[in-house]
Amino acid sequence: METKKLYYDDSHRKTFTSKVVSCTQAEGGYQVILEATAFYPEGGGQPSDTGVLGESRVLSVRETEGQIVHLCDTPLDVGMEVTGTIDWERRFDFMQQHSGEHIVSGIIYEMYGYHNVGFHMGSDVVTFDFDGPIPAEDLQTIEDRANAVVWENLPVRCYYPSEAELPTIAYRRKRDLPWPVRLVEFPGVDLCACCGTQVQYTGEIGMIKLLSCVKFHDGVRMEMACGKRAQKILATIFDQNRQVSQAFSAKIWETGAAANRMNETLAAEKFRSASLEKQLFSYIAKEYAGTSLALHFSESLTPAANRELCNAIAQQADVAVTLTGTDDTGYGICIISRSQNAKTLGAAAVAALGGRGGGKPEAFQGTVTANRSKITAYFQQEKNNLT
Ligand SMILES: [Zn+2]
Repeated sequence: METKKLYYDDSHRKTFTSKVVSCTQAEGGYQVILEATAFYPEGGGQPSDTGVLGESRVLSVRETEGQIVHLCDTPLDVGMEVTGTIDWERRFDFMQQHSGEHIVSGIIYEMYGYHNVGFHMGSDVVTFDFDGPIPAEDLQTIEDRANAVVWENLPVRCYYPSEAELPTIAYRRKRDLPWPVRLVEFPGVDLCACCGTQVQYTGEIGMIKLLSCVKFHDGVRMEMACGKRAQKILATIFDQNRQVSQAFSAKIWETGAAANRMNETLAAEKFRSASLEKQLFSYIAKEYAGTSLALHFSESLTPAANRELCNAIAQQADVAVTLTGTDDTGYGICIISRSQNAKTLGAAAVAALGGRGGGKPEAFQGTVTANRSKITAYFQQEKNNLT
C-alpha cells in the first residue's frame, strides 16, 4: 500500500499523527513506514526532511515504489500511533530555494528557451545548469524579474491534470512524461512538472539573489540563494564591504573604485621601489669592484631582489654571494660568477652550511640555515682558496 503523502495536501504541515505500518532494522537505524506522512523524501533536487517520529529521530527519508521510508535512530512498535514533527526551518529553507529555482528557470525558459538540465541544493548555495549561454549582462534583468514575481505574492498551484487534459497543457519539461504528472504553476511565470514541495505564495521566498553564472559544458552553471540564505550571504558580504570601506576610507558604495585606485597606486609604488633598488644595488656593487669574492648581507630582500643585487655585484667581482635574512629566519642565498661555476660553489656551500638550492653554472639560488658568522667564515675560506 502506498503511503499517503500529506506534504502534497499541505506543504506547510509541520506535525501530524499516523500509524506505524512496519519497522525493520537496517544499516544506520530502523526503516519505518507509516500510513501517512508529512516527511518529504529526497527527490527532484530537494533533500529529504529530518525531524522526529514519537521519541525517535528521523535521519533521512526516501521513497520506494510509492512507500515513504523513514530512517529512524530507534525502533517504533508496529500498529502504534505516532506524532511526527518535521524540522521546519530546514524544510522552509528548501521550499524557498526550490520555488525560487522554478521562477528563475521559468524566466530563463521564456527569455531564451533554455532548459534547466541540473539542479542541486547545497548547504550554502543552490546550483543549477542551463543548456545554452546566458550573457553576464543579462543576470541583473533576470534577477530583477524574479524578485518582481516574489513581491507580487502570486499563489502557487500544484495539481494533477487528468489523462485527457495532460497532452493539451504546455508545461516546461526536458522530455515527455507518462500520466499522471504533478504540475507546479507560478501563474504567468512558470508551469513545470515537479515532485517537490513549494511555498504557497511567492512572497514567502522573500528574495532571490543570483550569485554567479559561469560557462558549463554547452551552457551555463548558475549559483543562487533565496530567502534567509540570501539574507545571510548578503549580510556577510555587506560586513566584508564595510571593512573594505573602513580600510580605504571610502563610502560603502564606492569601495570598488577605491580598491582599483589602491591597485594602481601599488603598481606605481612597486615600479618606483624597483628603480630605487636598482640604483641602490649599483652603489653597493661599486664597493666590491675588483674583489675576487664579494660577500654581502642584507635583511629583507625578496629572492628576486637578492638576485638582482647579486647580479649587480657580479658585474664588479669575480664571484658575488648575496644573502638576505637574519640568524633567526635563516638566509636566502644567491651566487653569480663570470669566472667560476656558481652551481658547484652553491652546492658545496649549502652542503657545508645546511640548506638547499639549485641553479645553473652561471647562477645558484637557495637557502642556508647557518648563522651569519659561520657563513662569513665559510666564504672567507672560499675567498682564500680562490686567491
Ligand atoms: Zn521542482
